[in-house]
Amino acid sequence: MTEEERVELAARYQTVRSGIPAHVTLVAVSKTRSVEEVQALYELGHRAFGENYIQELCEKQSRLPADIEWHFIGHLQSNKVKQIAPFVHLIHGVDSIRLLDELDKRAAQVGRVLEVLLQVHIAQEDTKHGFSAEELLALVEAPWRWQHVRIRGLMGMATNTDDEAVVGMEFAVLAALFQQLRDRSGGPALDTLSMGMSGDAPLAIAAGSTLVRIGTAIFGERPAKAS
Ligand SMILES: *Cc1c(COP(=O)(O)O)cnc(C)c1O
Repeated sequence: MTEEERVELAARYQTVRSGIPAHVTLVAVSKTRSVEEVQALYELGHRAFGENYIQELCEKQSRLPADIEWHFIGHLQSNKVKQIAPFVHLIHGVDSIRLLDELDKRAAQVGRVLEVLLQVHIAQEDTKHGFSAEELLALVEAPWRWQHVRIRGLMGMATNTDDEAVVGMEFAVLAALFQQLRDRSGGPALDTLSMGMSGDAPLAIAAGSTLVRIGTAIFGERPAKAS
């Protein structure tokens, strides 16, 4: 990175930071970004980073400071859980019972309790994974049988559209569901509602998000191949 790029990164980071209230966690989404770029943000004092791809996450984790909190925000396949179980801080997109079973098993093997967010299907697109509202309520009301997995809350993605009414409505649905789950789950308090990205973070925060996942607004546009 050039000195100029560092200065630009710092400026974008400060802008994003200053737009986020203190009670909302900022996860910097570093997918497709270099180790050097992550390190530069780390040196500005940032610790929470989000990645979508297991191989990229493991590679960065092994090369960057140990006190980084790594968030896995992509679609997690059961056969990849083993690789991140020893170090991952929070897994955002847990979307099936089968995955909970696998997380429990792998967490037990490494002597950890893994913290997770359950993914809710709110967007209109079929491609987005997640539980339905009914499935979620059933899940938290039944006895929790995964001793090495702790649910911290929900994660959701709105439809990719410029229509703020649609996005705002989807976030409101998610926030209401989060509240309902908190009311009904007798167990440990749910405290994390992960919703909002570069394009829709203000709407998400207004609707009650407690964690935003921001990539582009901090690091600049990603190369076109990234999703
Ligand atoms: C890439 C990604 C983000 C960040 O998106 P930006 O638009 O770059 O802020 C947030 N959440 C998920 C799940 C992502 O895949």
